Amino acid sequence: MNDALPEYRYGFSGHRYHAYNDWARREYGGRLQKVSIDAGFTCPNRDGLLGVGGCTFCNNEGFSPSYLREQRDILTQIDTGIEFMARRYPRTKGYLAYFQSYSNTYDDLDALKRTYDIALAHPKIEGIVIGTRPDCLPDETLDYLAELSTRRLVELEIGIESCNDEVLRECLRGHDFACTRDAIGRAAGRGLFITGHLLLGLPLETRDSLIDGARALAGLPLDALKFHQLQIVRGTRLANQYRANPESVWLLDPETYLDAVIDMLEHLPPSIKIQRLGSEVPPNVLVSPDWGMRLHKFPALLEARLQARETWQGRLFAGGDPSRRKIVRPPPPPPAA
Ligand code: SF4
Repeated sequence: MNDALPEYRYGFSGHRYHAYNDWARREYGGRLQKVSIDAGFTCPNRDGLLGVGGCTFCNNEGFSPSYLREQRDILTQIDTGIEFMARRYPRTKGYLAYFQSYSNTYDDLDALKRTYDIALAHPKIEGIVIGTRPDCLPDETLDYLAELSTRRLVELEIGIESCNDEVLRECLRGHDFACTRDAIGRAAGRGLFITGHLLLGLPLETRDSLIDGARALAGLPLDALKFHQLQIVRGTRLANQYRANPESVWLLDPETYLDAVIDMLEHLPPSIKIQRLGSEVPPNVLVSPDWGMRLHKFPALLEARLQARETWQGRLFAGGDPSRRKIVRPPPPPPAA
C-alpha cells in the first residue's frame, strides 16, 4: 500500500489525483483542446454485425455537440469547433481533432487513413484523438496508428464502460472485458497513448464491482481514464426501461458518484492521468438524473471529497505500475502551404 501522497514523483501538482490537464500542460507546453468530429462512421452494435439497437445507454446525439449534427464536412466541423473553443478557452495552445461519435476505427484501413488525413491537414490541428470500441482494433489499424504516432500526436480512446461481464451483457455491449484487456495490451505494445472510457452506474454495477474493475484496470498499461456518470438519454433502450420501471436503474446522486470515483481512484496507479470526471448531456435529451450542476465544478468537488476522506489516487494500489511509460511527443506538423 502507498502511504504517502506521490505528489512529486508523479506531478500531482497539488491535487490528490493525477489530472490529465496538468500533465498535458507539462508534456505539451500548454492546453491542447479537443475539437469533436462526427466523421460519419457507424458501429458494429448498430449496423447489424452485432446488433441494430446499440448499447442500451447510447444515443450519440446526447453525447456530441449540436454543431456536429448540422455540418457533415470534417473541415467545417473543425473550423466551427475551433471558433467556439477559442472564445471559451482563449489561452489554448493548440487543437486536437477528436473523432468522437460512434466507432472511429470501424472501416477499412484506406478509408480510415483518408478520413484522418483530412483532419490532420487542417493547419490548426496538432494531432488526433480516436474514440472506438475495443473490438474494432485489428492489428493492421493499430500498426498504422503506431506509425502515425511517430509523426503526429495520436491518442486512442477505448470504450471500456464496465469491467464486469454481467454489466456488459446487460447493456448489450457486444463484447466482454477480455476483449478490452486484449485491445489495450496490443495497442500499448505498439507504444500508443491509451485512454479508457468508463461509465459508472450501469444496471447491475455495484460498488464492489467498480472496485474489482479498478483493480483489473490497475494491471493494464493504460495512460489515462475518463469517468462518466450514467445519464439516461432520450431515445435509448435504457430510457424505455427507466420509464417502465424506474426502480430497475441505479441512478447515482453526485455524492455517491464522487465516492464511487474515489473508490476506484484509490486502487489505480498514480501514473494514470484522469482526463474527465463527468459529462453533461443537453437538457432537451436528458431524462434523468438532473443534478443541476455544471461539469467544471467536478474537480473542486472531487478534491474536497478526497480531502474529507483523507485519501488520494493510488492509496490502495499495490504492485508494479504498468502505466509508467514515456510518451514521446511527435514533432509539430509542417506549416500550411
Ligand atoms: S455506445 Fe458506442 S458501441 Fe455502443 S451503440 Fe453507441 S456508438 Fe455503438
